Amino acid sequence: MSNSNNIEYQNKIMKNLNFLQRLFQAYYKENQNEIPRISSFTKREFGFIPWKSKPMMIRHLGFNDMNSLNNYFVKNAPRHVYSSGSLYLMPENSDMGNKKYIGCDLITDIDVDHFYTPCKDDHDIWLCKKCEASGKGMRDKCPHCGSLKLKTLNWICDECLEIAKNEIRKLIFDFLIPDFGINPGEMHIAFSGHRGYHLKVENEKIRTLNTEERREMVDYLTGHNISFEILGLEKMGSNIYGFIRENLDWSNKIVRKLIFMLKTYSDDEWNYFLNNIGLNANVIRSFIHSREDFLYTLTSESHNLWSIEGFGLTNWKTFLRGVVDLIGVELDEPVTIDIHRLIRYPGTLHGKTGFKVQELSIEELDSFSPLNEPNDRLNPIVFESLKNMHKIKIIEKEVPQTRIKGETYGPYKQGEVFEVPNHIAVFLLCKEVAVLQ
Ligand SMILES: [Zn+2]
Ligand SMILES: [Zn+2]
Repeated sequence: MSNSNNIEYQNKIMKNLNFLQRLFQAYYKENQNEIPRISSFTKREFGFIPWKSKPMMIRHLGFNDMNSLNNYFVKNAPRHVYSSGSLYLMPENSDMGNKKYIGCDLITDIDVDHFYTPCKDDHDIWLCKKCEASGKGMRDKCPHCGSLKLKTLNWICDECLEIAKNEIRKLIFDFLIPDFGINPGEMHIAFSGHRGYHLKVENEKIRTLNTEERREMVDYLTGHNISFEILGLEKMGSNIYGFIRENLDWSNKIVRKLIFMLKTYSDDEWNYFLNNIGLNANVIRSFIHSREDFLYTLTSESHNLWSIEGFGLTNWKTFLRGVVDLIGVELDEPVTIDIHRLIRYPGTLHGKTGFKVQELSIEELDSFSPLNEPNDRLNPIVFESLKNMHKIKIIEKEVPQTRIKGETYGPYKQGEVFEVPNHIAVFLLCKEVAVLQ
C-alpha cells in the first residue's frame, strides 16, 4: 500500500471510530437511568477501552456512585467497559498488592470462541498469513502449510448463540443449583453483547475461594481429570463393574445421561457418537447390539455388572470420557480461575458489535434470542433502525452472511459498496470489516 493510500485508509478508520463513538455517546446520554448498579459497586475496579486505532485498557479506576460512572460514560463513551469480579477496599490503587483484596465472585464466561459448533463451518473464515490459503471453519493452524499464523474472522449466528445458552443452562441447572447449593438469586446472567454469556455468582462462601480451590471447582464443572475408578468403575477377574445409581455427583450424572441416551438415541446417533470418540466399528456394532441389556443393567436395582462384548476397561473409559464431555460445561477455564479478571459491565455497549450487554433473569434466559429479541427491554440491538441508512464499503476479503432481526445481509466481498440499516452498519463497522463511504 502506498503512503498516501495508507494515510487515506487511516483517515477512514478514524472517521469510523469517531462515528461509532458519537453513537455510543448518544446511547449513554439517553440511557443514564437504565444502566444497572452492580452490587458492592464502590469496591469494584473498573476498566475501559477507548476508541483508539491502537486500543489499550485503562484500568484501576473506582467510582463512588452511579452518577460519576454515568458522567464518565457520557464524557468518554468508551468502546468497552469492564468491572472486576473481585472486591477491594481500594479498587483504584494501581498496585494489585495495595488494592486490599477482600474476595472474588465466581465469574464464568461461556463464549463460542472456545469450542466447536457446526455453524462455524459456514461462518468462520481463516486466512493463512504465510501461504495465503484461506477457508471456512474453526482452525488453529493452516491445513496447507501448518503455519500457526492465521488471521481469523469469527462470526455469530442464532445457532452458536443458542449452543452457548445451553452451556450456561447446564452450568446453572446441572451443577450450581444441585451440587453447590447456589441460590438462583445469587446468580447474575448476562448476554455478553457478542459471542456468548457471562455468569457471576455472588455467594459469600465462593468469594473466599483461592485460585487452587477455584481450579478444583472448574475441574468438577468441566469433568476434566475425572477418575472413573474413584466413581466406582472396577475390574474384578474378567468382569467390569460400573457405577451404582445411588451414588451422588458425577456417577449419578453419568448414569442418568446414559439412561437418557439409551432411551432416545437412534442407531445412527449412537454410530456418530461412538465413532466420534474413537471406538472401532466392531466395538460400535457390539454396543448397539447390547444396548437394551445395558439399559436394563443401568435401571435395575440389583446389579452393576457392565458386560458388553469387546468392552474392557480401556474401551469403557473411552466411552465414559465421551459421555462426560457431553455433560461437562464448556467454560473458559483461565477466566474462572483468575481472581483479578474484569468482566463486561451490564447495560454497556460491546465495541465489537454495538450490541448491549444484557442482564437476564433465569426465567428470561429461556426464551431470550439475542439477534431477534421481541421484548424491547431485553433487546441488545440498541441501534436498530430500518429508516436510518448508511452507505458502507467492505474492506475485508470476505465477510460471512449476517442474519439479524430476521433479515439476511451478505455474504460480501472486498470493495462492495451498499446501503444498510443503522444497526447493520454499526455491526459491520464495529467488526472492522467495513468503512463508511
Ligand atoms: Zn498456510
Ligand atoms: Zn454460528
